[in-house]
Amino acid sequence: MGRFYVTTPIYYVNARPHLGHAYTTIVGDALTRWHRLLGDDVHYLTGTDEHGLKIQQAADAAGKTPKEFADEIAPLFEQAWKRLNIANDDFIRTTEPRHRVAVETLLRACYEAGDIYLGTYSGLYCVGCEEYYVADELTNGTDCPIHKRPVEHFEEENYFFRLSAFEQRLLDWYDSHPDAIVPDFRANEVRGFIKGGLRDFSISRRSLEWGIPIPWDPKHVTYVWFDALTNYLSAVGYGQDDERYRAWWPVDYHLIGKDIIRFHCVYWPAMLMSAGVEPPRGWAVGGWLLVDQEKMSKSMGNVVNPLDLIDDIGLDGFRYYVLAETPYGQDGDFTRKGLIKRYNADLANNLGNLLARVATVVGKKCGGIGPRAATDSPLAPAAALAYEHAAAAWDNVQPSRALEATWQLIRATNAHLETNEPWKAEPGPVVDAVMGDALEALRIIAILASPAVPSTAQTVWERIGMSGAVTDERLPDAARWGGYPGGAAVVKGEALFPRRSDEDDS
Ligand SMILES: [Zn+2]
Repeated sequence: MGRFYVTTPIYYVNARPHLGHAYTTIVGDALTRWHRLLGDDVHYLTGTDEHGLKIQQAADAAGKTPKEFADEIAPLFEQAWKRLNIANDDFIRTTEPRHRVAVETLLRACYEAGDIYLGTYSGLYCVGCEEYYVADELTNGTDCPIHKRPVEHFEEENYFFRLSAFEQRLLDWYDSHPDAIVPDFRANEVRGFIKGGLRDFSISRRSLEWGIPIPWDPKHVTYVWFDALTNYLSAVGYGQDDERYRAWWPVDYHLIGKDIIRFHCVYWPAMLMSAGVEPPRGWAVGGWLLVDQEKMSKSMGNVVNPLDLIDDIGLDGFRYYVLAETPYGQDGDFTRKGLIKRYNADLANNLGNLLARVATVVGKKCGGIGPRAATDSPLAPAAALAYEHAAAAWDNVQPSRALEATWQLIRATNAHLETNEPWKAEPGPVVDAVMGDALEALRIIAILASPAVPSTAQTVWERIGMSGAVTDERLPDAARWGGYPGGAAVVKGEALFPRRSDEDDS
């Protein structure tokens, strides 16, 4: 038992929640649910990133103030996470006062450490975009890629963070924390960035209005990345509630996408080191869920709304798919065909079918009352292995492997029934033993599957006659063979996951 603090990136409110946001948020939810089963004191944070030029522009275009604009979009994220059964403990918005206090505190700490200085930013600037470009982003070497007009050379006074001073410190830190970044190959990528040389980066803009002013020089507004990263500290009381901050920091895992690895694994720990704050304990870097081999984006026109998928395949069908289909860290390819295929194979045919046949046979051969499992059941070793492998996989932030281990136990239980064919046997001790084994396996399966499919797990739990909430079970004890009490009514109920026709496929 311990404490476990996990974060998602905060999502930028220039877009509505899409499948990519849902993916990371479901991974975090399942991971934290696993840790709740372990008895850990869990803090799961998500939220929205609401400052910066793009929000200011989007608000202008909509004829609203940036705050009004953000106030309309942020609740869409909160509502989406409720519908996806996300058990986050906090939802932070960067426009909240508690966040501003933390950003100011962190800025001052870095400034006092001598790592923030005033300099001049010079670069190629498009007035239409109000944005800097580097030469190789330009069309024909001279023009803004959006406005197709020549960009201008522009200079602006900016505050800079002295990232160049942190090369060796970061490398030393990663040397002494070799497991901090999962999967492994992402750690090598980060070391590569750092060894390639670090340049100081600008942390303020004078041209920008929508953001947090630099506390000692309010003509400047804090650059959105410095602002956004600090949310992970703001939410646990940094600069405001020292006791709370000390209880939760350092974070156990930042869940991030591979596109924001440089900000999170290079800039962020350097900022923290400068301020005398311990770096994160871990980063779990996910790939993208691609749609038709492309990253989802507004401009590609391939944005998938996760809420439409819930309507289509059910909440737990959707949650299971995103967790099981793609090993965390790799890119996945989202297709409706893949969604239906996995739903039918793992949920309808395996888990759903197991529960249905167990309830049917208990109804017909055991008078509807679940018999107790034998202590020397042939399924006991399979259950022990499922727990061991699932626990190791969650520990490495690999939900797909944890579910694979759990589904091995489902397959073993179905195979056990097929070998013994209790539906053909006369009622009596032999049938009772087989059904007791299957019920005990289902009890353990419900616990192990609950981080991924919480409401389904509760249904299985109740139908096999267990009382209370499956989420109140505590591992590892609850996964030990022999916990099914026997003597409870087993309920058949409706199909957990009605099989979907492949013709639904479009
Ligand atoms: Zn432009």
